[in-house]
Amino acid sequence: MPIHDTICAVTTPAGVSAVAMIKVSGPSALSLVDRIFVPKRRDAVSLAQTEGYQMVYGHLVDHSTGEMIDDGMALVYRAPHSYTGEEMVELTLHGSPLILSLVIEQLCAVGARVAERGEFTRRAVLSGKLTLGGAEAVNDVILATNRSALRMSLTQMTGRFGTRVAELRDGLIRVASLLELELDFSEEDVDFVSRPELLQSCEALRAEVLSLSESYRKGEAVKRGIPIAIVGSPNVGKSTLLNSLLGEDRAIVSDVEGTTRDTIEGHLFVDGQEFRLIDTAGLRETDDPVESLGIGRTIREVGSALLVLWMIDPRETTEAVSEVWRRLPSETPEVVALLNKSDETTAEERHRMSDHLSSLGIQEVINIIGRDSGEAKKVTDLLHRHFANLVVAEGEVVVSNLRQAMALRRAADGLARVEEGLRADQPTVLLAQDLRDATAAMGEVIGDVVTEDLLDSIFSHFCIGK
Ligand code: GDP
Ligand code: MG
Repeated sequence: MPIHDTICAVTTPAGVSAVAMIKVSGPSALSLVDRIFVPKRRDAVSLAQTEGYQMVYGHLVDHSTGEMIDDGMALVYRAPHSYTGEEMVELTLHGSPLILSLVIEQLCAVGARVAERGEFTRRAVLSGKLTLGGAEAVNDVILATNRSALRMSLTQMTGRFGTRVAELRDGLIRVASLLELELDFSEEDVDFVSRPELLQSCEALRAEVLSLSESYRKGEAVKRGIPIAIVGSPNVGKSTLLNSLLGEDRAIVSDVEGTTRDTIEGHLFVDGQEFRLIDTAGLRETDDPVESLGIGRTIREVGSALLVLWMIDPRETTEAVSEVWRRLPSETPEVVALLNKSDETTAEERHRMSDHLSSLGIQEVINIIGRDSGEAKKVTDLLHRHFANLVVAEGEVVVSNLRQAMALRRAADGLARVEEGLRADQPTVLLAQDLRDATAAMGEVIGDVVTEDLLDSIFSHFCIGK
């Protein structure tokens, strides 16, 4: 359905600033702005007669009284050479909330309407300027807080990611078309493609689809910060360590057991890498319902972390330590033990605990004084050592959003069913159906099949001006 209305929005953050921008997009963008914009040059033509990529200086005025509101620049884009693919004007004005709201009011008075969340980008998708994956990436580009995350979203935005997915989907389509051909000639009961060859192609494709879908864990870690959980018994100094690492009093530190009941997060940057440190409730038996909820949450965080820092006071009993070990969930990733409070403990106590830990299978044990911020470097070095490779290289294709990871997963499942069917010598009709499902799922990854619901759910995360 063609779009008839013209939308406008302030695209810069709320508040006072030196300059700010209003975007206007739609079939009447130029003629609407013309009604409230008076070019200063005597020989100037209207915006509607101005070529694309030209900037015009002028006054913004009240359309009915002609009273000046501000002066500023209008940058003209001609369809289809604009972000949305439509006629567009970008007004650069003074960053005053009053001026901005007056101009938006004027634009609406002459026939524009205020854009919905992500509507500019939505139009870019509808006019074929951006793929759906590219649109999602626009938001990620804006929200990226570290270099790897930025690289990853740029790869998505510029379409390199989509190209990789399209290649895989084309592989699926090739296999599918062979099967469909066979169906067309089903009377003759011949196999066009050798079954072992077909099986091989499916296996190879599935391995690639799976590896792409599994890159989501990396993508997620890079985007949100590599998740590191700090666990241990109550009072061993977990919150103190978090504070030392962050260089601020984020978590409450106290010698009352069970003080930290909720998980507390802080972001730490080490050599440009972003870590999401998660301080957790001490793991112990408790009757306190709130503390129990905190412990439940701890267990979940541990399961999704990429590394667990297990803090231990060497004076704890070995039973207490084994109890914490027992409580860690089965999907616990690598664990590094930090023997805390080295300023108060003896070498003998530390040795005894190290021996116990190695009997539990813990390889890496580090002595630390968590409340000494100088000692926090031992932990940042450790993080650097473990994760130096967890970066996204320029152009590397990584899945960074759950929707795509799930669609890839479905494609892999579909392929697995085709493989099963081939091994069980199933009729071609069934194989072809499973393959069609897998191909459709691949299409969803890049947004070939765009439904209104999908668009709504994606753009609801955007801001108005994007
Ligand atoms: P959490 O329950 O594991 O979060 O422990 P807290 O961080 O709240 O600390 C419990 C107590 O241990 C507090 O009184 C801290 O001051 C103390 N503490 C933390 N780290 C150290 C340390 O490195 N050395 C010593 N001596 N005390 C510490
Ligand atoms: Mg605590």
